[in-house]
Amino acid sequence: MDDDPFEGLLRMPGAIKAARGVIIPLGDDISMHVTNVYRKTETEGLTPQEMLLLACCSRAEIIRLRELGNSHDYLLRLRANAIADSPRACRVFAARKKDRPRWTLSEYYRGKNSARNQYLRCLSAKQRHELRKIPAGMALVAEANAMCVGSLLGNVIVVSELLEHFFYFMNVAFFGKSLGVPSPDRGAALLIAARTMLGSEALDFDIDSRGTLNRHAERRVRRLVDDQMAFTFGHEYAHHLLGHVEAATHSPLHMFESNAQGAGGTEYSACRYVHDIEHDADIGAITQICNGGDMMARVASAAMTLFVYLDLMHSSFELAPEIDRKISDSHPAPRDRISRLRASLGPELGLASAEIDGALEVSSQFKTWMAEQVVVQRPDLLSFYGSIYFPSQGPAMKRDRLDF
Ligand SMILES: [Zn+2]
Repeated sequence: MDDDPFEGLLRMPGAIKAARGVIIPLGDDISMHVTNVYRKTETEGLTPQEMLLLACCSRAEIIRLRELGNSHDYLLRLRANAIADSPRACRVFAARKKDRPRWTLSEYYRGKNSARNQYLRCLSAKQRHELRKIPAGMALVAEANAMCVGSLLGNVIVVSELLEHFFYFMNVAFFGKSLGVPSPDRGAALLIAARTMLGSEALDFDIDSRGTLNRHAERRVRRLVDDQMAFTFGHEYAHHLLGHVEAATHSPLHMFESNAQGAGGTEYSACRYVHDIEHDADIGAITQICNGGDMMARVASAAMTLFVYLDLMHSSFELAPEIDRKISDSHPAPRDRISRLRASLGPELGLASAEIDGALEVSSQFKTWMAEQVVVQRPDLLSFYGSIYFPSQGPAMKRDRLDF
């Protein structure tokens, strides 16, 4: 095989070099983008379905997935399927795998566990010991949500990478002013966050940066994201510790309402019980913290901020009627979740009532601004499939597949 496995393909008539691989025209405005070329030894013995997993898994992991032996295998399958089902996610993982010859998908995600680990360190030794047995981590699933799944092999906790991006851009929009982020970039961040929640923003932040922050702002925003991710893991861990997953007869328990088919505990949707367990998991995520300095206070503030963000998202879904993003009654309303937290936690924890009112006021101004932008810019501003960039950083628009 050539050193450059794409070289032969590039000699085909009309073929052009892409950022990764080669694009070959097939006529009738149809092109084929070849992103990966594998050696025969890599594919030997694999079914065509299994070959799709080569985009993200090691060969040993693919073999492991033939028979799910434990809940860690189940988490690996959730992660692998989420990538293999999305050509764009495969391109993201091709970039992540670059220059890492000893790649495994599980090892990659192990490196993204810092918020989860930080949270676990703040629990009692007994709870930490119990929870370390639960496979829990990120996956590139297409819905910005988190869930605790009761599989036959045991409970598994999955947090979408998109949720982390949603938090990041919402924090830029809400806190960027005091961090020196220019106003147009804060506006763009708000739109990116809303589009991420709606599923219209391309899932390729790794390979197509929407813009960068100054170092100080980046550090502060990341810290807020870490606290919000810690609360998210804490909420799902609380579902496990409180026995909610078993009670839900193995329906996945989502952090927010889910757009996924049949998810979100549909059989309980009209039941007060589900609202109660969500409130209990919110409170448990905070009160089960027993050390770690100011961690409990930070996670409490992060939880309230996160529900302010979700409240804004709910009220802005009507700005993208083309996307059928339903708000079901499967979960308590975000404002109810804030109120319940405020009533349950001591005054030293979380945002004070006046701070919550202030954040909701800003949120309402943001919604008005987004409604104006839908009129001024384009009616499908929140729903067109693609990417939005920070305007202050020049014409960042790149050509899909050719430049990234
Ligand atoms: Zn929940």
